Amino acid sequence: MSKVYIGVGHGGSDSGAAGYLIEKTVNLKMAQACRDYLAARGVEVLMSRTTDKDQVLTTRIRECNQFDADLALDVHNNAGNGDGFEIFHSIVGGKGQVLAKNIEAEVVKLGQNSRGLKTRTNSSGSDYFGFIRQTQCPAVICEGVFVDNKQDSAQADTDAECRAFGEAYAKGVLKTLGIEDTTGGAPAAKPTEPAASAPSKTGSLVQVTTDALNIRSGAGTSFQITGVIRDRGTYTIVDTKKAGGYTWGKLKSGAGWIALEYTKQA
Ligand SMILES: [Zn+2]
Repeated sequence: MSKVYIGVGHGGSDSGAAGYLIEKTVNLKMAQACRDYLAARGVEVLMSRTTDKDQVLTTRIRECNQFDADLALDVHNNAGNGDGFEIFHSIVGGKGQVLAKNIEAEVVKLGQNSRGLKTRTNSSGSDYFGFIRQTQCPAVICEGVFVDNKQDSAQADTDAECRAFGEAYAKGVLKTLGIEDTTGGAPAAKPTEPAASAPSKTGSLVQVTTDALNIRSGAGTSFQITGVIRDRGTYTIVDTKKAGGYTWGKLKSGAGWIALEYTKQA
């Protein structure tokens, strides 16, 4: 199974760029749509955050490397009064550049103009961005729209538009991974098999492997978030269900359901 790490730019006290939109909020919406699209097609996805919380870049990089991702993208939006999408990849080129190209092609299909594929170097001639330089897999940084440009930001000022961006990123990822996107945009008819590592036995003990794991009122991302597990603790699962590409486990406490892809057998 292919693994993709999605960094979600900024969060918590760091709003990122601000203008007509707040970057951290738009980033999360796009990233969630990207995750849902990939997960529905059998890709194992880890997101740096699924809620509005503070995070550190070094943690994101470490998490990506520990997850052993095949590809990584960091979801951002731009500022500086430019206009259009841009995407950064490593100066090394290679698969990261292919990923950037594939994502750009999908974004252009949305009607968004592209400022092109970019690289940026630091004073020692290495990749400037830590997310590109220090992640072990090919990685890109997506800058969807300029949040401080009235016209450009209007392309991502609804949930549906944010979702379209996230899905465009996902399609570029699938193409790069060589995974056929047979459903042509609609959610996969048949839920894919869950991650091999996802425990599925009932009454089993699982340990949370992420800093913030949402508890939902039902088995699926459309259910309301009723809490967040932040202790990487061990929990007992009394029932499981597959939905939307995840295996959901019901907490014994009755608090709700969690995605078992973010846990390991304890
Ligand atoms: Zn940003």
